[in-house]
Amino acid sequence: MKAAIIEDIKKFKITDVEKPTPDNERVIIDVLKTGICGSDIHNWDAGQPKGLIMGHEFTGKVVHPGSRIDLKIGDRVTALPISPCGHCEACETGNPQYCPETWTHAVGLDLDNPGGLTSTISVRPDMVIKLPDNISDEEGAMVEPTAVGLHAVHLADIRVGDKVLVVGGGIIGLVSAMFAKLEGAEFVAISETNPARGEKSVKLGVADEWFDAKDENFLTNILTKVPGGFDVVIDCSGNTKAVESELMTAKAGGTIVLAGVSQKPIEFASVIAVMKELTIIGSIAYTKEEFKNCISLIANKKIDVMKFVDDIVPLTDVQKAYERLTSGTDDAVKIMVEPNKY
Ligand SMILES: [Zn+2]
Ligand SMILES: [Zn+2]
Repeated sequence: MKAAIIEDIKKFKITDVEKPTPDNERVIIDVLKTGICGSDIHNWDAGQPKGLIMGHEFTGKVVHPGSRIDLKIGDRVTALPISPCGHCEACETGNPQYCPETWTHAVGLDLDNPGGLTSTISVRPDMVIKLPDNISDEEGAMVEPTAVGLHAVHLADIRVGDKVLVVGGGIIGLVSAMFAKLEGAEFVAISETNPARGEKSVKLGVADEWFDAKDENFLTNILTKVPGGFDVVIDCSGNTKAVESELMTAKAGGTIVLAGVSQKPIEFASVIAVMKELTIIGSIAYTKEEFKNCISLIANKKIDVMKFVDDIVPLTDVQKAYERLTSGTDDAVKIMVEPNKY
C-alpha cells in the first residue's frame, strides 16, 4: 500500500509500505480521511523523523476489530492517537495527557505507529472510538483538533462577559475562539500575521475582530480596543515573540493559556507577570471525556467544524497541501487527505 513518508526537510515521498497484519489485539482500520495538523507541519519543516508516516486526525473503517469485540467490520471509527500507560496516577484520574508515556508511541508521531497518511493502520484497541452515523468522515477527522481547542478553553476558565484574545488563526486558534464564544465571551479577538487568515476568522464568525500582529502598532491597536487588556489570552501560535507580547495584552489578574508549542525559550521580565498577578497555564491535548464531548457536540450539530475544512486532496497532493498551509498568505487552515486516492 502507498504511504506519504517524511523524506527530508519540507519533503514527502510517496512510497510502498507493508500493510499491518491483524494480531487479534489491535484494531486494523482502513483510513478514509486524515487531517493535516500544525504539529505535523513542525515535523515536515524539520524533515524529522525520516520515514515517519504522520496523520493522527482520522476517520476510518474497521477491517479487523482485534480485541474490540464490540466493533464489527465496516464500523466507522476515529481514535485518540495517544499511548497512555493506563495505570499511572494521571491515567487513573482521567488525565492521560499528563501520562509520561502518552507521546512515546503516539499514532502518526512515532515511527513504530504509522498514522493516517497511508491506506491501512493499526491502532491500540482502547483508544478507538466508534463514530455515530450522523457524523461525516470529514467531521470524524476534525474531532482531534477540536478537542485540543476545547481543552485549552476549559483550562482558560472563561466566564460570561470575558474578553478573550486568541493568538494565531490556525485551526486550533479558530476552534478555541469558537469555544470561547460558546463559553460566553463577550468579545473574541484573533491576532494573526497572515491577513488572509485573520480576515477568515471574522468571516467564519468565530472572532469579532482580528489584529495584525505584524503591525508595529499592534499593542497600541489592541489595547485601544480593549483598554486594560483581556481577561484571557490563548496562545495557539507557539511563537516566542507572540508569547512575550501576550503578557502585555492580558489584564491584571488575567490568564494566559499556552496551547502553541515551541522549543525556543521565552524571554520576559518576571515583573510583568508578578505585578499583574498573571496566571500562565500550559495546555496539551485533551482528556478522553473532552474527546468524546467533541464527537457529541459535532453529532448533535452544536458546533460546525466543517466550515474550517478548506480542501480534501488525494495522497499524491500531500506535498502541495503542506506548502499551501505554510505559505503565510493563503487562508487555508485545514486540509484533509484521502490516503486511498492517488
Ligand atoms: Zn493534531
Ligand atoms: Zn499513565
